Amino acid sequence: MGKDTLLGKTLTEIQLIVKELDMPAFSAKQIADWLYKKKVTSIDEMSNLSVKHRLLLNEKYVVGAVKPSDAHYSKDGTVKYLFNVGEKGAIESVYIPDEDRHTLCVSSQVGCKMGCLFCMTGKQGFKGNLSACEIINQMQSINEASLLSNVVFMGMGEPMDNIDEVLKAIEIMTASYGYAWSPKRITVSTIGLLPGLKRLLAESDCHVAISLHNAKSAERLALMPVEKAYPLVQVLEEIRKYDFSHQRRVSFEYIMLKGVNDTPQHAKVLKLLLKGLLCRVNLIRYHAIPGVELECSDELTMINFRDALTGGGIISTIRSSRGEDIFAACGMLSTEKLNQK
Ligand code: SF4
Repeated sequence: MGKDTLLGKTLTEIQLIVKELDMPAFSAKQIADWLYKKKVTSIDEMSNLSVKHRLLLNEKYVVGAVKPSDAHYSKDGTVKYLFNVGEKGAIESVYIPDEDRHTLCVSSQVGCKMGCLFCMTGKQGFKGNLSACEIINQMQSINEASLLSNVVFMGMGEPMDNIDEVLKAIEIMTASYGYAWSPKRITVSTIGLLPGLKRLLAESDCHVAISLHNAKSAERLALMPVEKAYPLVQVLEEIRKYDFSHQRRVSFEYIMLKGVNDTPQHAKVLKLLLKGLLCRVNLIRYHAIPGVELECSDELTMINFRDALTGGGIISTIRSSRGEDIFAACGMLSTEKLNQK
């Protein structure tokens, strides 16, 4: 059996390892420091541990940092990275530089079970969950690691379907022994898988982004099978239990699909659904994927849709598209790699 990784372990887990190896209790904090503050890639670099203890650790563990296997650079500065995750295949992470922000969009699963009609990752099927190590590694092993100001869980997979590992990664990002980031710097996106969402809301203070895409239940079901098990109205009931008037924010992602969800009637139903909720709606341009007959709404329709929402008191923006020239739709690059194999 291969060695276990230290990266992605919480302080509590490191404390157990230290105890098991009969090392002094204070070494747990030292190891966490080497992993998450100094970001070392080998146990031998942990120079304040004794040689004996480094040998002991080396027998059973590796740090587990892995560099991306490929990178595609867009002319707008966006970089799409590909990471190999063993038998499970490959995942994508996208680095998006903006004026004052450096955001990384991370993946939480390899492929996805949720089968959303418009999604390339969904077409790959499900290959496996990422470990907290594989999630944290995306942040730690890219060239721009030291620049990152924000993380969004909007890459491959449904984070609520891998909630244990996602919460562990969030703990490492926010804990004082880890990156010590404010939870305000982290946004977790979900299609509304309620059991996981309930835990995310209760066990973290991160921002939440709900993939909405159609406020009419029957039409949403045609796009997103999740609507059957966890209808949007139930998701919103849960969301409304929390206070989003202070630090924490909730937003709704809405991919604009020509003739499918972009009419004035759709905007009206959406306004009613979100009435009284302090939130933002992000309108997203659809990137066509092979084999799916969906098109992006035209510019004027998007502007009218946005204005209808804003006029109804709901802050709404049309997201600018990034990395158009490097397989912009999530899952495109890893699918291309799969096909090459
Ligand atoms: Fe999965 Fe998200 Fe794609 Fe839906 S949109 S299939 S939840 S990755």
